[in-house]
Order: sequence, then C-alpha cells, then structure tokens
Amino acid sequence: MIERHYAVDYQVHSVRSHDGKFTIDQMCQRAIALGLDEIGFTEHKDFDPDDPVVEYFDYQAYMHDVTLARMQYGSKLKVRAGIEIDYQVWFEDKIGKYLETHKFDFVMGCVHYVNKIKVMSPEYNRNRNARLAYSDYFHAVRDSVLSGLFDVLGHMEYANRAGVAAWGKYDSHAHHNDLVTIFDRMVEEDMVLEINTAGLFHGIGATYPCDKTLELYASRGGTRISIGSDAHHPDQLGGHYLVALEMAKAVGINSVVTWDKRHPTVTPFH
Ligand SMILES: [Zn+2]
Repeated sequence: MIERHYAVDYQVHSVRSHDGKFTIDQMCQRAIALGLDEIGFTEHKDFDPDDPVVEYFDYQAYMHDVTLARMQYGSKLKVRAGIEIDYQVWFEDKIGKYLETHKFDFVMGCVHYVNKIKVMSPEYNRNRNARLAYSDYFHAVRDSVLSGLFDVLGHMEYANRAGVAAWGKYDSHAHHNDLVTIFDRMVEEDMVLEINTAGLFHGIGATYPCDKTLELYASRGGTRISIGSDAHHPDQLGGHYLVALEMAKAVGINSVVTWDKRHPTVTPFH
C-alpha cells in the first residue's frame, strides 16, 4: 500500500528487456521497499526482422526469473509476468501465433513505429505536419485495438514524446474523432487503458495519455485502467503513482485492473 492505497506498477522493464539493466530480483526488492502490492513486468517483445534487438527476448529465461522471484517474495508482493508487444499491422499474424504458445499474465500492445519509422524520431515528424503526425499514430493505435490481441493499451499518446518538441503543446481536442473510435472499441472489448507516468519524466509535462484524453475515455464509458511508470531503473518504480491515481479518481474511476493468467480483476484503490 502507498498512503493507504492499493499500489501497483504495471509497466516495468528488467534485463529481460533489451534496454533494461536491472534484474527482476532487484526490481522486486525495490517494489517491496516502496510498498507496492503488485509489480507487473512488461518486457519488450519485438517482431520486426529488421530490428537489431528482435531476438533479444528469451521467454524461458524470463519465466524462470519470475518463478524465482515469486518463491522469494510471493508473500509480500504479487509478481506478474506481462509482455509489452511492439505492434505494427504487417506482423499482426506473427503476434497472434506467438501468443498461442507463450503464456503471460497480461499482454500489452504498444505502438512505437508507424510504417517502420520510430514515432519518437525527428524523421517521423519531418515528413509530416502536426495533424498527420498524430493521426497516423492514432490510426496505428486503432489497428492495434481492432486486432483483439491485447489486454492493455500501453502508453497511448506516446507520439507526444517527440511531438511536443516538434509541434508544441498537444491538444487532444484536435484528435477527438480518432480517440473516440479507439475508446468506443476498447469499451466494447473490455480492454484496459494504461496511464503511463513516464511522460512526466520525459519533459512533456503529461502522462500517456494526458488528463483530457482520460476524461474522454471515461465519458465514452471507459472504466478500466492500468497504472505503470515504465521503470527501467529501480528508482523509477512507482513513479508518480498517486498522480495517476488522482487523475483516475477525477474522472470517476476508483480502481485498477490487475491480471493473473490473462484474467482481469477490478481492484479498488481502497
Ligand atoms: Zn513502449
């Protein structure tokens, strides 16, 4: 518990991700010290054959680490084995096949690339105007939601990471129709929306998604959220958890969704 609230971090990377430097054991120790009730690992899994880290993720080694952590810390901390899948429409079939044979507690879909170009790169924005930069990204997010492959939509509005520097302050109203399409489908499918606090560290001054977008999600009937820090370092764990929690409460959402073998549980903050 953190300040008497049920506390989770459902976006965490360890050495089992290509960009992680700390072990699952180290992350769990820090989570317990912080008072987290649950830690949800979301190691990167990539499918683009041109991606130099495509082969990095090792399922067996990951599950082995998780099993050891559960044996050691299970009485104090729920350790969830999730996965952050990089989604691009052209390898959707590969993702589906992979998930048939690899079991996780939850599966998060994230868009990092549009037509093979990194959304957070200057190159992405160089060849577009502001409207297109966001709408191309949102269309990719929409496709990921329509795929039906994922339990959780991760770091929605991540296009802001480079977008704010390229285009200035982001206004979600300009993308109302794209967002409504995404959220209506998510609500129909009981898909969970992550509030990812990493944007507060990335200098864009907002979570992914921002508060206005979360408000729109709630106004479309969305009630199911996850909260994650995108920690790659133990010091980032649980970062701004209470900020995200207050954002949720402000739009009438008083719970997070937690996961076990892809079964969701709506878990109240109190
Ligand atoms: Zn990501």
